[in-house]
Amino acid sequence: MIPAEFDYEAPESLEEAIRMLHENGEDAKLLAGGHSLLPLMKLRLAAPTVLIDLRRIPGLHGIQREDGVWRVGAMTRHADLQDNEELGVVSRAASLIADQQVRNRGTIGGSLAHGDPASDLPAVMLVSDGEVTARGLSGQRTIAAADLFQDFLTTALEHDEVITEVRLPVLEGYGFGYQKFTRRAEDWAMVGVCALVKKGADGSCEDVRIGLTHMGTTPLRATAAEDALRGEALGADSIARAAEHAAEGTHPPGDLNASPEYKRHLARTLTGRALMEAAGL
Ligand SMILES: Cc1cc2nc3c(=O)[nH]c(=O)nc-3n(C[C@H](O)[C@H](O)[C@H](O)COP(=O)(O)OP(=O)(O)OC[C@H]3O[C@@H](n4cnc5c(N)ncnc54)[C@H](O)[C@@H]3O)c2cc1C
Repeated sequence: MIPAEFDYEAPESLEEAIRMLHENGEDAKLLAGGHSLLPLMKLRLAAPTVLIDLRRIPGLHGIQREDGVWRVGAMTRHADLQDNEELGVVSRAASLIADQQVRNRGTIGGSLAHGDPASDLPAVMLVSDGEVTARGLSGQRTIAAADLFQDFLTTALEHDEVITEVRLPVLEGYGFGYQKFTRRAEDWAMVGVCALVKKGADGSCEDVRIGLTHMGTTPLRATAAEDALRGEALGADSIARAAEHAAEGTHPPGDLNASPEYKRHLARTLTGRALMEAAGL
């Protein structure tokens, strides 16, 4: 449980951090809340030779609503998301991450950059059509959530890029549901489901988005279930029929807690519950 030796840097500007990342190459790692990276280092599954701490860099914290978009600084902690209920499903999902100690340290930028398909916020980003702003030596770019998560613990970020901000459209008129199944309270999700539903004036489903956590090597959209519900009258029967499609096209990894078949069962059941919650039924 003792990590390999490493150097520690605490830059005071973003430019300095990016330069340090670039100069130290693949052996350097950014440190945010440390709640994914440090456990990996203690298990010696990661052995960076330099840690570049983002905590002293100004301008990476905070939540602002501007022109129909939530702008969330990359170093904003899960606890801050949890406390801001106006963020809707983002706040709910953050409140279900681990325990309060983890939420007091872990950050949204760290969670998204880590790219763990068992994490709660990546699927929420996906259904919200969120995007991240990344800065590197060659400038700044925007990466849509749909392009960010590429494989298990693998994102589209270049080695010397820092996520500076997360942008989430304000989804007016959507109800939300978030369901997370764990073996013990405060565990990682065996499976998690995030649902957003927009009701039309006639009570039909004008739009629906469903995100799945831990059902593959990246967060996924349950598009077959979405297609089955969109345009239908919203009710327990139509939701139950749509939820039956939730696991279509998924290849969940089996692990000590659940077989792939059990995870598919969980995805169908939790999708039904999350949709009922999102539809206010
Ligand atoms: C006991 C325990 C239980 C947990 N349970 C859950 C859970 O149920 N659900 C859940 O979602 N998460 C869970 N987590 C993980 C937690 O949410 C982490 O905090 C989060 O995944 C990573 O955020 P961090 O700020 O701690 O990142 P760090 O651990 O500091 O960094 C993670 C990775 O991201 C990189 N990185 C960090 N910030 C940036 C940035 N701004 N730009 C580019 N790269 C960056 C780092 O270099 C590193 O590779 C748990 C953690 C623990 C210890």
